[in-house]
This record gives sequence, C-alpha cells and structure tokens, in this order.
Amino acid sequence: MNTLNQMTLLLFCMAFCNFSNAQMGDDQKRRPIVVIDPGHGGKDPGATTRTGIKEKDIALGVAENMVILNKMLFDSSLELFLTRYSDTLIALGDRAKLSKQLKADIFISIHCNQALNHNASGTEVYILPKSEVHGKKSAYLGYTIQKKLSGVLGIKNRGIKYGNFQVLRDNHQSSASILLELGFLSQTDEANYLTKEDAQIAIAMAILQSIFKFLELS
Ligand SMILES: [Zn+2]
Repeated sequence: MNTLNQMTLLLFCMAFCNFSNAQMGDDQKRRPIVVIDPGHGGKDPGATTRTGIKEKDIALGVAENMVILNKMLFDSSLELFLTRYSDTLIALGDRAKLSKQLKADIFISIHCNQALNHNASGTEVYILPKSEVHGKKSAYLGYTIQKKLSGVLGIKNRGIKYGNFQVLRDNHQSSASILLELGFLSQTDEANYLTKEDAQIAIAMAILQSIFKFLELS
C-alpha cells in the first residue's frame, strides 16, 4: 500500500470512528419521555356536545395528532406514549402506572370541560395541591401550554387550578403532571371548534411546541 492509500485509509478510519462516536452519542442521549393520557374512553364518553360529539374522541384526536406531528415535523424528538390508542377504557391507576414505569418527564391528561353556565369557555389546567416534588414544574408546564393556546389559537385562558385527581396524585412524585381541560363542550362555539379536525391538529401542535419550550429544546 503506498503512502497516499495509507493516508486515505487513515482519514477514512478517522472519519468513520468520529461518525460512529457521534452516532453512539446521539443514541445514548436520552430523549424526553412524555405520556399523554386521552381522558375517558370506551363506555365512559366524558362530556358530550349538543350535537353528540364526545369528549373521549376529542381527547384521543388531539393525542393522536401529537404522535403524528412529533414523528413528521419534529423527527421524533420526544418519546411519546399514549395511555390509550383506541376507544377503550383504561383504569385510572393504569394510566399513571404507565407513566411511572417509563419514568416519564411529563404526564398530561387531556380532557374537555362542561358547565351549567353555557357561557363558560376557555382552558383550565389542574395541578395537584401541595405537590412538593414537581409542583412548580407542573405549574410552569401548564402555564406554558395555556399561554400558547391563548396566544396562537385565541382560546381563553382560565388559569391554573388545584385538583385532587387520581392521575395527578399517582404521578406527582415522578414527573411534571397536569390535567388539561381544552375548553367547554357546553359552550356552542368552543364545542364546534374542538370537534374540528383542523382545530385538533392546531392544538396538538401548540401543546408540542409548549413541551419543547418547557424542556428548553426550542
Ligand atoms: Zn374529562
């Protein structure tokens, strides 16, 4: 082998080794784990619009679009899991169990609201009262999502509230955990909006962008 060939081989090996190390580094870098919990499912429809569209389907629609957008637009930057991928009822305890087993960084339970006052509208975020472990993180995650949903999509922001929900109780030791109410199915305009496929895609996008901001990835 002449000197030129030896040099070429050496350069090739160096380049290959560097490439391999870079690849290995990327593989070893842990992607943030996010668990999305589409509320209700199966025989539990949750709230229903006047036209009969169910909360369980809106929540699943938004969650499914998050999976698609994470893959198509964000190169699967998040390890995203859903507690259900179809119209089935999962026990509340099992929803949190998945998140704990995965050691998720973020847990978001997605719901839609309803109220006797048909004028009530807007998003609400619930965090666990007196959560000392991830309380501040959860509040900041909720704040970031609500800010985006109101700023970009114009959905009224009703702020962060305390809620002693089981999915939050079971999760608060292990991850930033919120229950997100996207809007009120009892308010006609909001119900019409939330049932549209375009709206569910836009909301999914806004939640994903908020997660990236929360994780300081954008
Ligand atoms: Zn609900």
